Amino acid sequence: MKIRVMIAVTAAKLAGYICKKMGRQGVTWAGKIALGICPDILEQLSSQVRKGIFATCGTNGKTTTNNMLCAALEAEGQKVICNHTGSNMLNGVVAAFVLAAKWNGKIDADYACIESDEASTRHIFPRIKPDYMLLTNLFRDQLDRYGEIDITMKILEEMMQKIPDMKIIVNGDDALSAYLAMDAGNPYVTYGISKPVIQSAANEIREGRFCKRCGEKLEYGFYHYSQLGDYHCPKCGFARPELNFDAEDVKVGDQLSFRVEDKHIVANYKGFYNVYNILAAYAAVRTAGFAGDHFQDMLQKFNPENGRMEQFRIMGTGVTLNLAKNPAGFNQNISAVMQDKSPKDIIIAINDNAQDGTDISWLWDVDFDLLGEESIRSITVSGIRCQDMRLRLKYVDIPSILEGDVEKAIRDRVKDGVGNLYVLVNYTALFSTRNILKKLEGEKS
Ligand SMILES: [Zn+2]
Repeated sequence: MKIRVMIAVTAAKLAGYICKKMGRQGVTWAGKIALGICPDILEQLSSQVRKGIFATCGTNGKTTTNNMLCAALEAEGQKVICNHTGSNMLNGVVAAFVLAAKWNGKIDADYACIESDEASTRHIFPRIKPDYMLLTNLFRDQLDRYGEIDITMKILEEMMQKIPDMKIIVNGDDALSAYLAMDAGNPYVTYGISKPVIQSAANEIREGRFCKRCGEKLEYGFYHYSQLGDYHCPKCGFARPELNFDAEDVKVGDQLSFRVEDKHIVANYKGFYNVYNILAAYAAVRTAGFAGDHFQDMLQKFNPENGRMEQFRIMGTGVTLNLAKNPAGFNQNISAVMQDKSPKDIIIAINDNAQDGTDISWLWDVDFDLLGEESIRSITVSGIRCQDMRLRLKYVDIPSILEGDVEKAIRDRVKDGVGNLYVLVNYTALFSTRNILKKLEGEKS
């Protein structure tokens, strides 16, 4: 073992320990320090993983899917390294390995589950050479940071071709993701939902309306949501591939249930999109060669954490925190909230920091008119761009309370609300809001 690796691991661990209080910022700092001392630290550490490395990519559902896959592999008795916090750029991935390493630079892991930001795959993939890539979906996201979806697709295809043995586990219901997997030439398996389940809003924004292979407009048998559904090209024959892992008898309500292969899967989550997250993790575990007999047990105990439908209890009020960072995610969030028929208050916090994308015009692509229903007793708009959010709601005749300070907004609704509060936030609002909720949860009434 190179002495440099040991020094890098030691320094990063100390740094990580010192700035643990800084949360995920601290984590990425540890990665940066390790890379500074030993530029090939990631190669050195990841090459010690014994059985396989999964990389999870895609616009929505990465963190939930990746963490669930980690839990599923652990339920099979495997030792797993995972960037749980969703720090998915190079420094965050390095930190996950460094913090899991022993002081002597040794890694003791059967698998690694690594969530990777799509643009960062160029820096991460050549170093860790994943055995499997999980591709959840491709939606429009944070436009001014990434450019168009086409650029993202180009980067991902480049990575697939650079690592030709990497097996792609892909959402077959997404024409964009499935096209990539089919076009790249890598081996692939698909998951999806072959039959229609829910009514997709007719005015929903859809990406990838045109065939990536020939440019013709795609025809759809049905949509699940956004552009996910049963598609085919009338001109060149490109079509939804056969689904290797098909969720059947899908039921959506206070909990989700479906059947895949011979297994009955039940999860205490709301939100149809979680069927895809669960299915993706299941497909990955099966593709790695496990029978998946412990999958349902794992799911019962699995806590999504990190602000993905995360539950808090503050002075008698049940609070659900959820990240919503783009139109597809936000629409799915809204439909998940609306599956809860009981009275509720909603807080929507929107920031426009660099990581959110400073252009928040995407708010106009979200179906906020659905929030006009009577079970919603109040909507509070908060965050840096609360005024824009207020205007967006006003446009569909929905009144809102303006409170730029997120903590005050939460305190007010806990005090005078109906006891059932949903907090929907975009990316940079997530971390601070989560800290506020944790703090309030710890306070005595
Ligand atoms: Zn075509």
